[in-house]
Amino acid sequence: MSYVDEVLASVKEKNASEPEFLQAVTEVLESLRSVVDKNEAKYREYGILERLVEPERVISFRVPWVDDKGQVRVNRGYRIEFNSAIGPYKGGLRFHPSVNQGILKFLGFEQIFKNSLTSLPIGGGKGGADFDPKGKSDREVMAFCQSFMNELYRHIGADTDVPAGDIGVGGREIGYLFGQYKRLTGLYEGVLTGKGLTYGGSLVRTQATGYGLIYILDEMLKHKGESIEGKRVVISGSGNVAIYACEKAQELGAKVITMSDSNGYIVDEAGIDLSLVKEIKEVRRGRIKEYAEKVPTAQYHEGCSGVWGVACDIALPCATQNEIDLNSAELLVKNGCTAVAEGANMPSTLEASKYFLDNKINYMPAKAANAGGVAVSALEMSQNSERLSWSFEEVDKRLKDIMANIYKMTSEAAKKYGHEGDFVTGANIAGFEKVAEAMMAQGVC
Ligand code: NDP
Repeated sequence: MSYVDEVLASVKEKNASEPEFLQAVTEVLESLRSVVDKNEAKYREYGILERLVEPERVISFRVPWVDDKGQVRVNRGYRIEFNSAIGPYKGGLRFHPSVNQGILKFLGFEQIFKNSLTSLPIGGGKGGADFDPKGKSDREVMAFCQSFMNELYRHIGADTDVPAGDIGVGGREIGYLFGQYKRLTGLYEGVLTGKGLTYGGSLVRTQATGYGLIYILDEMLKHKGESIEGKRVVISGSGNVAIYACEKAQELGAKVITMSDSNGYIVDEAGIDLSLVKEIKEVRRGRIKEYAEKVPTAQYHEGCSGVWGVACDIALPCATQNEIDLNSAELLVKNGCTAVAEGANMPSTLEASKYFLDNKINYMPAKAANAGGVAVSALEMSQNSERLSWSFEEVDKRLKDIMANIYKMTSEAAKKYGHEGDFVTGANIAGFEKVAEAMMAQGVC
């Protein structure tokens, strides 16, 4: 049995109750076959794959807090410290009722390769809780964040583990978490990224994942002699990533016609009015349905998956994992979609992802496509360390350069191992090689 097959079999046996984690590991290991086969003896000797699929540490804790009615509530919090071969653990916190250990392990595992691709010194981690901020008052969210930090603070630090935001964790939550960390430790340090601009945050961090997604999409299209200008774009989600992907796509001349949330999606053939979306989602924390109530050219449809049936040139999934299944992928291609860039983490199922590759779609997977967020987080860490802040233009330029470099590394790695144009394989190989080298250099740890 090949080394990859042996490790995959063992991962399946040990983690049978964690389907998302199994999906992520299967995708990565399958695409690493060519590089692993070539270096099998060395990787086997160092147990590289066995170590890579096992988190260095899984931390789980109780989060008790009091709601506005005086009732004590309890959630489960986690931090997965997956791999620190190339730097301190780095990865977001997700607050969503669907959060469990398997989902965070999939996200932490993906983060290892994504962070490596940025060329910055950051390891892979992820965390969160099964807490739902939706419908909670600011005081309830603060009470939850403070209690979450009461446990988390002992595991994190500016040089050990630096969390950021993810689904359900934006500027408000990061602020409450930072305040509590400071209170508990007395340290004013860059222990979290995505902070507000008045207390150590970096310019462009809010926009980074969405902007970075469009920068790498643009790079991919340019290499095909195409451009984003004038293209019809379908976006799912209406959170941080979706909003700033829409902003940059519109700036570059694309026509964005959809956005969604977990209840449904809107189609506006006149082009999305982003200032209204921001007002609904960022200011009032409302539902996307309200957009169609205000804009005569827009229609609202219940349910999420229908958005992939809207004809487009480019699809940008920016909501959540497995939102595009095989059926949706077929529909996109049938209706003329020629490019897919993933803002969300693992938004395509294994079958959908294979379908895009088989049909020669310009397909940029999440690991490369949404790395802009963590890249600017790492730039925030640098600014915090030197106690300086860089201008918007400087950070934006660095982000653009990083995304162009990720495209280069990804396409070159794919070509080197005989998979030209397959950015899934390219991103996994380029991310993996550096981490494997670092792990071998550091001995058995
Ligand atoms: P937000 O919480 O800001 O927004 C999430 C959006 O996705 C909302 O519109 C939400 O709708 C929708 N959504 C969430 N869960 C589901 C679901 N189960 N089904 C359908 N829609 C859903 O999160 P982000 O924009 O930060 O994150 C979006 C994706 O991007 C995630 O996969 C995240 O891991 C990934 N990502 C984020 C980065 C960042 O910097 N923020 C960096 C890299 C990746 P509703 O309001 O109804 O919940």
